[in-house]
Amino acid sequence: MAQEDVFKKLVSHCKEYGFVFPSSEIYDGLGAVYDYGQNGVELKNNIKQYWWQSMVLLHENIVGIDSAIFMHPTIWKASGHVDAFNDPLIDNRDSKKRYRADVLIEDQIAKYDEKINKEVAKAAKKYGAAFDEAQFRSTNARVLEHQAKRDALHERYTHAMNAGPDLNELRQIILDEEIVCPISGTKNWTEVRQFNLMFSTEMGSTADGAMKVYLRPETAQGIFVNYLNVQKTGRMKVPFGIAQIGKAFRNEIVARQFIFRMREFEQMEMQYFVKPGTELEWFKYWKETRLKWHKALGFGDDHYRYHDHEKLAHYANAATDIEFLMPFGFKEVEGIHSRTNFDLSQHEKFSGKSIKYFDPETNESYTPYVIETSIGVDRMFLSIMSASYCEEKLENGETRVVLKLPAALAPVKLAVMPLVKKDGLPEKAREIMNSLRFHFNCQYDEKDSIGKRYRRQDAIGTPYCITVDHQTVEDNCVTLRDRDTMQQERVPVDRLLDIIADRVSITSLLKTL
Ligand code: ATP
Repeated sequence: MAQEDVFKKLVSHCKEYGFVFPSSEIYDGLGAVYDYGQNGVELKNNIKQYWWQSMVLLHENIVGIDSAIFMHPTIWKASGHVDAFNDPLIDNRDSKKRYRADVLIEDQIAKYDEKINKEVAKAAKKYGAAFDEAQFRSTNARVLEHQAKRDALHERYTHAMNAGPDLNELRQIILDEEIVCPISGTKNWTEVRQFNLMFSTEMGSTADGAMKVYLRPETAQGIFVNYLNVQKTGRMKVPFGIAQIGKAFRNEIVARQFIFRMREFEQMEMQYFVKPGTELEWFKYWKETRLKWHKALGFGDDHYRYHDHEKLAHYANAATDIEFLMPFGFKEVEGIHSRTNFDLSQHEKFSGKSIKYFDPETNESYTPYVIETSIGVDRMFLSIMSASYCEEKLENGETRVVLKLPAALAPVKLAVMPLVKKDGLPEKAREIMNSLRFHFNCQYDEKDSIGKRYRRQDAIGTPYCITVDHQTVEDNCVTLRDRDTMQQERVPVDRLLDIIADRVSITSLLKTL
């Protein structure tokens, strides 16, 4: 199945099975805003718990906070968001559609890459085992022609972005590359303008002189402005970290790809405060630690890659993204940045308050350097859903849709099913469920045939189902069915907790780290 079709199916599956709904759907939706349904919220909570515990529970020197979404507006001046948190936008006059100029150009670069890859794939098929890819790439005339165009465009684009960005040059690139609007198919473009991504609102009544406040575009600043409060009250010694999970808001110009790019989303961020001069060691540590956290989910190492940034923000001295293989290619899920002392120094400057750390070991004061790990809950959710979604052909010719979610993250861990709705079987099933529900999320289901009930649970990723039948009443044993292998085994009711609890717990997942 083409990856585009897989993605479409995933989006409709998310809706059909109560994972993700378009926001305000009965009013025709609201662009790039989504609601999580009964299963989505469970999966999302489990992702957050996995992250939180891996940070706060497993590191003695990391603590959490929960800061407010509204903050003093000067914070966003200090952080640079008021002046520089912009995207360059361009409109097509015919379709009236708005685009990010940088994205249009990046897509064009990707098109050259695609052309090259197609040539390579064609040749690989033609020459079979004898094919030498490296040689083909360095000698084939068509590949070299595409590569030269791609490299020239890449260089011109990087230059334009680094020069401010140079908005006229971005527009000129779009015209020179003859990029057309995908809707109207025309090149009738407006000028390129800067667009600030922060949402703003008013705090206080107008008579009092209302203050313009922003909805935070990242959770990190709430950590920076509380860093000294936490350090002092928690008697924290550098190096130490502060973790936070919370909503962030960005007025994204081009909101695409479902929950990949939203206007309201959730971040899990951890800022790690270190002694200046040690930051690159810690950057390496967090780069490795975070990738391990992702890989522990078991989707396969080939689903991940680092994307080290060549061009760094002026305040950063190292940065990398962890990318995940989504149905639409490798995409950023998490950023790890070495941010020097930029943020803390800026807040010192703008607030006029000293926020230096006094090191009791060396008797010196300094502004700590910061390593940031920043991951989007929703993007993580999308990566997990896309890697878990499977359509399997069964021996009887039927197809089953199964979400092979990591058991620890699955919304429901166990479905309890009486074979029939009589003969005391529902009562027995309820009794079993009542004893297990304190340990993990269970669901009771007695409607339709057992086959249909299994399919429903497969579709929401429930790792185990048990069936209570007539024999259960006599021998106190049930049939335990495994989601992935579909194997069934007969087990005593008293052993269920032992068998299941360990396999579905976040603690077990954390132990693999
Ligand atoms: P992008 O380049 O995709 O816009 P970014 O580099 O601006 O992302 P950061 O500011 O580093 O992203 O934010 C950290 C993380 O927050 C990202 O890795 C991503 O998982 C998540 N994130 C950022 N913007 C969005 C969004 N609009 N919708 C959903 N998640 C987002």
